[in-house]
Amino acid sequence: MTHNQPEHLNPLDSMKERFSNAANILGLDQMTYDMLINPQKVVIVSLPVILDDGKLKVFEGIRVVHSASMGPSKGGIRYSMNVTLDEVKALAAWMTWKCAVVGIPYGGAKGGIKCDPRNMSAGELERLTRTYTAAMQDVFGPDKDIPAPDMGTNQQTMAWIMDEFSKIKGISSPAVVTGKPLVLGGSLGRVEATGRGVMVSTRGAMAKLKMDPQNCTCAVQGFGNVGSISAKLLATQGLKIVAISDVTGGYYKKDGINVEEAIAYVNKNNGTLEDFNADRITNDELLTLDVDVLVPAAMEDQITDDNAHAIRAKLIVEGANGPIASNADKILHTNKVNIVPDILANAGGVSVSYFEWVQNRLGYYWTEERVNRRADRVMKQAFDNVYNASQKYEVSMRTAAYIVAIDKVASTQKLRGVF
Ligand code: NAD
Repeated sequence: MTHNQPEHLNPLDSMKERFSNAANILGLDQMTYDMLINPQKVVIVSLPVILDDGKLKVFEGIRVVHSASMGPSKGGIRYSMNVTLDEVKALAAWMTWKCAVVGIPYGGAKGGIKCDPRNMSAGELERLTRTYTAAMQDVFGPDKDIPAPDMGTNQQTMAWIMDEFSKIKGISSPAVVTGKPLVLGGSLGRVEATGRGVMVSTRGAMAKLKMDPQNCTCAVQGFGNVGSISAKLLATQGLKIVAISDVTGGYYKKDGINVEEAIAYVNKNNGTLEDFNADRITNDELLTLDVDVLVPAAMEDQITDDNAHAIRAKLIVEGANGPIASNADKILHTNKVNIVPDILANAGGVSVSYFEWVQNRLGYYWTEERVNRRADRVMKQAFDNVYNASQKYEVSMRTAAYIVAIDKVASTQKLRGVF
């Protein structure tokens, strides 16, 4: 099992550094700066859960609302042993910037529970999720704060949240959470939405860089929702996926991996690539492969000042949130590695989450074709906006994305005022 997230790094520091950088370029005033760098609300709850062996275990549940200036706050819930308050704060802020980059009327939030979902039974996960939802009943709400899946949570988790919240409030409230199963008011296209947005923004960047997909190789780190769908859709665009990976390590095939086959394998193999038929590499080796496009789609701080100098990809598209630590930015910039930043690249998921919420409130459901068409339009427009800002301010796509986002949130904040 590989876990190479360096302990000295903190995603909140990366978020703050990039925020400050863009805020300086924008000439943001101190008051707005102070309001936007800190989360609006942090809720920490104690979650007593009876485990299958009859023993009680108390988990800690976190929900951070970074900003509700643009609308109800929105953001996933992460179940992982690596969850920390600072990580959740960083992820919540990224949600604010992400929603602003794609122009959807939400603020940003994130939730997390420190637990190991792969070693918990369905019953234990259900009790944990229901307890967390009950504890957050006054935080969540279709007009207040709307959770969604993230690492370690899935459609089933969202179904439990919807059910528990609806029971507590005595109403049917599908719009309290997104990423639900279809039969419970989920949206067609949601499962593939983040990977699809990664594909659309990769194509956008490749067009600007005059890279022909038919002649390009690609490595994808992480093979969960984002990584596997990104790999599948990039393959349909002609890119040769030479390497994939997950917690069990990396898998390499010089002539290309059949991604559909790998997905089918994972579905039959308890959710991992363990023993998949390919050359074995480590997750670290995957990141420094001689490929054209690299898609880190697992977790934060995978590319740092330790390995940034060894990156050979021309283009990195951040499927995960925060996979590049801010201490790697300068090195990658000097080495002319182009980056499509997370708050743009993986915003397809929250865009279709927004469509899901809209459909829940309308009580009217769209075809997959309509969802995909509208999501692609949102992603293309956001890509162009960020690209144009990068040209205007002569900055990286990352700084440009922060500039676009901060500008929007700051002007809304100013109109709303402070009391
Ligand atoms: P997931 O739980 O479905 O998959 C995570 C994958 O990463 C798994 O294959 C896991 O084995 C692998 N992984 C975990 N630790 C690893 C390590 N140290 N090295 C290599 N692989 C490792 O999660 P997901 O929903 O695909 O989310 C992945 C990333 O994308 C996260 O950063 C998440 O915040 C971000 N994201 C997800 C969505 C979404 O819609 N699911 C949207 C935007 C951003």
